[in-house]
Amino acid sequence: MNDFDLIGLHRLARAATDAGYYNAAKLFNGAAASLINHQLSAEALPKTDEDFVAAIAAIEPTLAALNLDRNLLESLLHIRSAITKNRMLAYADVPPVFVCRVCGHIARNQAPDYCPDCGAGQLTFQSFAATYYLEPEPIEVLINQLTLTPDWLDRILAALPAERLAQKIGGAQGEWSLIEAASHQLDAQQLIAERVEQFMHSETPNLSAKSPAEMVDQSGLSAPQIAQAFRQSRTHMIDQLQAAPSNYWTRVGQHNEFGPVTLQQQVSYFAKHEQWHMAQMTRIRKSLT
Ligand SMILES: [Zn+2]
Repeated sequence: MNDFDLIGLHRLARAATDAGYYNAAKLFNGAAASLINHQLSAEALPKTDEDFVAAIAAIEPTLAALNLDRNLLESLLHIRSAITKNRMLAYADVPPVFVCRVCGHIARNQAPDYCPDCGAGQLTFQSFAATYYLEPEPIEVLINQLTLTPDWLDRILAALPAERLAQKIGGAQGEWSLIEAASHQLDAQQLIAERVEQFMHSETPNLSAKSPAEMVDQSGLSAPQIAQAFRQSRTHMIDQLQAAPSNYWTRVGQHNEFGPVTLQQQVSYFAKHEQWHMAQMTRIRKSLT
């Protein structure tokens, strides 16, 4: 669907909303999201910093020709140069962005009381989390989902000999073996366990960011050892979360990449991160069996 105009679907969604057919808008928005995700999951995305920087540079003239907000274009230049220098993009590098749902006006740092272009009120502005992982999910849902993962991990690693588990399979995320992906899940679990611990002991924990590279596990554990360590850490963490007073969930830590993050957001982040990787591990397992 290379040149298909997705704005057409968004146009119908907005027309449906304007006409009061709110439930029709769900279908058009769903169709647009499905087509985008389907295509992006199948194509090769820029992988290296070099490729990514080149891809940003390639799209900048088009965005400028479309008269995109100048501040936003300048921010793109700024992040492109930061990535060229191999720097992590800190929260301070990229202020929050708000877009007017009526007219597309872009505001930074905070949404204005009234849109300077169209007059719409502040609540009309759309904000963008750095990743949907940070959008907070209900606590009960989080606990339920987190509880399921140790069994899932046992199943995905079951009945494969060590050489199959170590076999690297290429894919959208690059070349990974099942054991490397499982190690990544364990690293992430150990990191969230550490963060939960911090939230239990401090009202304002300092959540220092770790780059994905720092999270690659080199410890050489076997699959059963990884699954066992994951289960142990997860079970202890869930016990802690269930025993925590409800106001702990709204404690706010400081994260140098994401800024202020509540316990609920932090737990949502890791629950969604591990579920995203489930697709990768499912795909690897399928190509091994
Ligand atoms: Zn506006």
